[in-house]
Amino acid sequence: MKAVVYHGPRNVSVDEVPDAKIEKPTDALVRITATNICGSDLHMYEGRTDFEAGRVFGHENVGEVIGVGDAVDKIKVGDMISAPFNVACGHCRNCEEGLTNYCLRANKPGIAGAAYGFADMGPWQGGQAELLRVPWADFNCLRLPEDAREKQDDYVMLSDIFPTGWHSVRMSGLRPGESIVIYGGGPVGCMAALSATTMGASKVMVVDRHPDRLRLIEQIGAIGVDDSKGSPVDQVMEHTNGMGADRGAECVGYQAHDPQGHEDNSATLNDLVSSVRFTGGIGTVGVYVPQDPGGPNELAKHGKAPFDFGSFWFKGQHMGTGQCPVKHYNRYLRSLIAEDKVKPSWIVSHDLPLDQAAEAYKHFDAREEGWTKVVLHPGQAA
Ligand SMILES: [Zn+2]
Ligand SMILES: [Zn+2]
Repeated sequence: MKAVVYHGPRNVSVDEVPDAKIEKPTDALVRITATNICGSDLHMYEGRTDFEAGRVFGHENVGEVIGVGDAVDKIKVGDMISAPFNVACGHCRNCEEGLTNYCLRANKPGIAGAAYGFADMGPWQGGQAELLRVPWADFNCLRLPEDAREKQDDYVMLSDIFPTGWHSVRMSGLRPGESIVIYGGGPVGCMAALSATTMGASKVMVVDRHPDRLRLIEQIGAIGVDDSKGSPVDQVMEHTNGMGADRGAECVGYQAHDPQGHEDNSATLNDLVSSVRFTGGIGTVGVYVPQDPGGPNELAKHGKAPFDFGSFWFKGQHMGTGQCPVKHYNRYLRSLIAEDKVKPSWIVSHDLPLDQAAEAYKHFDAREEGWTKVVLHPGQAA
């Protein structure tokens, strides 16, 4: 089969690799029809993780089930499914409590949580490929309705970014009528803005500096805060009568940088503490890592950040962290799509055949104007 293979920093190609196949009776084999390039793929693409050369990317996957193992009971050949990026067993202590983001059995002992095609997240191959093996298939597959193919650019957001954006807002504690500031207007930040709007936020502010992203944000009625034009904290204060936003969401991660490109892994965290009101809440879904050998300074190399804990504590804020338990939300968000209440595909700028993945990575990684979200379609002619 063809797959997007990582060879080293900023070096991927579409190669012929051995077919994914059913290895255990609980597996399903899925023919991928849509698979996204994610912002978190870029951390790996840039060589800022220990993702191994030779492995396949891709954790945001939709496709058709073409085979099931003997122990798969519910999922059938022919089903169109969304696979959460979290690989989870369904019966460990954390999975039983709904914490599929920290499954105790899908990674090596001592590490909770796993994902397809992801650094440090277990041995699972990614879905930027013609075929994907989905383990514990009855638990990990979400069946899609009749319109799965025509709306696949919407449903493909259910694997990660739509639930992740939703999770950031939920962790912030947003209540209807409250305001929220979201740092990062990339795909996850856009989904957080869509989520906050859907949950009834009175004012949604998104901090970014790329004109194409700010345009997308404004298309759904959110306020774009351009941090290349001045302090985002000051701008949020102006929008909130000097009080600060009720809630905040971090959708950037450890490679946060200023408009000149200088990295500071604490920049967005500290701006959030400053721009969220006393006793407000913050949800952090941007990726942070325990080790970052490519980091710009000693602290960063060891995953540490000069976080403004004094102000955070003094203001009585709370913060939720970590990856999203996709299964906690995906069934309900699927229904919002099916009933035409939301259209998360509004951020998609490029639908491309798998063969164009290497070019797509280059453009998306460079944050080129107009490359806001790429969906790859294995099987689509070039
Ligand atoms: Zn993702
Ligand atoms: Zn588990």
